[in-house]
Amino acid sequence: MYLAADRWRRQRLPRPARIAFCLAGDALFGVPFFLPPLQRAVEEYGIALRRRHVLKAVHGPSRTACFAVTDAGGRVTEIERRFDLLHVTPPQSAPDLIKRSPLANAEGWVEVDPVTLRHARHANGFALGDAAGTGNAKTAAAVRLQAPVVVRNLLAALDGRPPEAAYDGYGSCPLTTAYGRVVLAEFGYGGRVMPSFPLDPRRPRRSAWLLKTRFLPFLYWRMMLRGSERDLPHRERHVAGPQAA
Ligand SMILES: Cc1cc2nc3c(=O)[nH]c(=O)nc-3n(C[C@H](O)[C@H](O)[C@H](O)COP(=O)(O)OP(=O)(O)OC[C@H]3O[C@@H](n4cnc5c(N)ncnc54)[C@H](O)[C@@H]3O)c2cc1C
Repeated sequence: MYLAADRWRRQRLPRPARIAFCLAGDALFGVPFFLPPLQRAVEEYGIALRRRHVLKAVHGPSRTACFAVTDAGGRVTEIERRFDLLHVTPPQSAPDLIKRSPLANAEGWVEVDPVTLRHARHANGFALGDAAGTGNAKTAAAVRLQAPVVVRNLLAALDGRPPEAAYDGYGSCPLTTAYGRVVLAEFGYGGRVMPSFPLDPRRPRRSAWLLKTRFLPFLYWRMMLRGSERDLPHRERHVAGPQAA
């Protein structure tokens, strides 16, 4: 959305694009600490933020999307919105194979201990990645840190020892607020802010853009997929400055 808004703004269209962001929930982003730069970008681009809009149906020929909208009093009404271009993100879900399996919890994710990543009911089972019921932000950055934890704890289990490695819930969302600018949101369980660099992570930065576009592909293809555990160390930091309400 931000990249499209930035591109259209740079094109100086005769009639500026009107963009609406319809969220199923209430919050623009799950971790309040990172809200100010995202909210600022929404305002600067003139994006209409529509909360509690759950997409129910799309009618292609008439370019209409139907939403169930819940108001502050909890009353639900159905509304239709016209669009020229619709970008839909489905709700996060584990694959049906997992959802229907005895490994799943009530929400359909693999039921693991969020720290050891060992299955809660089957001691010889482990899970990592998007399908794991761990409550972290579902990112490849999380997978990168979960993989060594699973390997260590799996080997310990095979030796009859208790799990020895712990996952702290780290995940990273590089949020591209414009071409050339990224807010590098790194956080762990409970929304604890865990940046890799001693900088205010709420600031959209060119350095974070270069990290995302140049370094992370290298980290992924050359290191992560080849089994290297080398990483940019992150840690919980207190960052001063205004917080989102
Ligand atoms: C648009 C987008 C942007 C993203 N950007 C970032 C980012 O900038 N940084 C970041 O860290 N993360 C990002 N992510 C998240 C990241 O891609 C995921 O967290 C990561 O890919 C999860 O890895 P995974 O191996 O757990 O699952 P997947 O990568 O989803 O792999 C699961 C695999 O299982 C296969 N599969 C499913 N069902 C079956 C079956 N029945 N039998 C056999 N195979 C099956 C699927 O085809 C798939 O290949 C992004 C995700 C999206 C969608």
